[in-house]
Amino acid sequence: MRHFNIPFFIPELGCPHQCVFCDQHRISGTLQAPKPEEVDLQVAAYLKTFPKVERQVEIAFFGGNFTGLPQNEQEAYLKAASKWVKNEEVNGIRLSTRPDYINPEVLKLLKKYGVSSVELGAQSLDEEVLRLAGRGHSAKHVEEASKMILDAGFVLGLQMMTGLPGDTMEKSVYTAHRIKELGAKETRIYPTLVIRGTQLEQMYLAGSYQPLRQEETIERCKKLVLFFEENQIRILRLGLHPSDGLSNGSELVAGPFHPALKELVNTAIWKDIFRESVIKKTGSCLVISVAPKELNAAIGHKAANKKWLLEHYERVDFKTDPKLKGRAFHADYC
Ligand code: SF4
Repeated sequence: MRHFNIPFFIPELGCPHQCVFCDQHRISGTLQAPKPEEVDLQVAAYLKTFPKVERQVEIAFFGGNFTGLPQNEQEAYLKAASKWVKNEEVNGIRLSTRPDYINPEVLKLLKKYGVSSVELGAQSLDEEVLRLAGRGHSAKHVEEASKMILDAGFVLGLQMMTGLPGDTMEKSVYTAHRIKELGAKETRIYPTLVIRGTQLEQMYLAGSYQPLRQEETIERCKKLVLFFEENQIRILRLGLHPSDGLSNGSELVAGPFHPALKELVNTAIWKDIFRESVIKKTGSCLVISVAPKELNAAIGHKAANKKWLLEHYERVDFKTDPKLKGRAFHADYC
């Protein structure tokens, strides 16, 4: 079963806040929110590109603060989306919003229109980090909203950032632990970037904020990914989606942006595995078998792991073995 999202970005329309890291218009690359009547057209267009069978499709309202929109606008979007759930072309609706815009009435409305998953921009569960990020909500808001979402029968997603002002490796790991304890089944991990036009840019230029370096980011994300995987929390995204402005650098002032961050992190996880259990053995050639899904990550981004192993063995080959699951592997030495 393959999962597909039909994404709609609703930039900052419902959001009166200004988090230090956010310039919602630039990040989403979308200046205008779609009109509710455009939802139909876009869903129909997306569905044509998906396989007909073995698919799980969700309509997703991302960005901004969906439940901060006026109720009539929320309903207009949800009505347009729920039609596709009712006729069974789409399996569910997901949306992202702020924790302090969740209450039983809001959840009742989402339920009525068939929303299945609610993602909260938690960003951190550390009060000091939330305060320095200008989030305007507390960790308690995240805890209370999470409980309400679960009690109302939705799938809960909690998104987090790492590298915010005041954040540390320990605080990021603490946030991941709280995400698990609060009952989230899904998460997104966003390393903090300094985007043009944000307060963070001013802080960076004034020297009061220093973004994470790429190696630190990979180190942190590695820990977070392994923790979430061990606890069966689905990682829906690692790193910001590369908009044109991020890719060509015009919107990015500083920070660990990489269009293939997930690949870099998975490469680093595999390198640790090989360091632990492969290079300690001897032989002149090495054949490593991994699950088909893991082949690229095991070889590494730009074959980084293979090149590194070649510093220890004269010959290194990778094979797939469909019987292997996750990051299980076997190594043959010759
Ligand atoms: S709440 Fe969300 S949309 Fe609003 S400023 Fe913060 S990050 Fe941006």
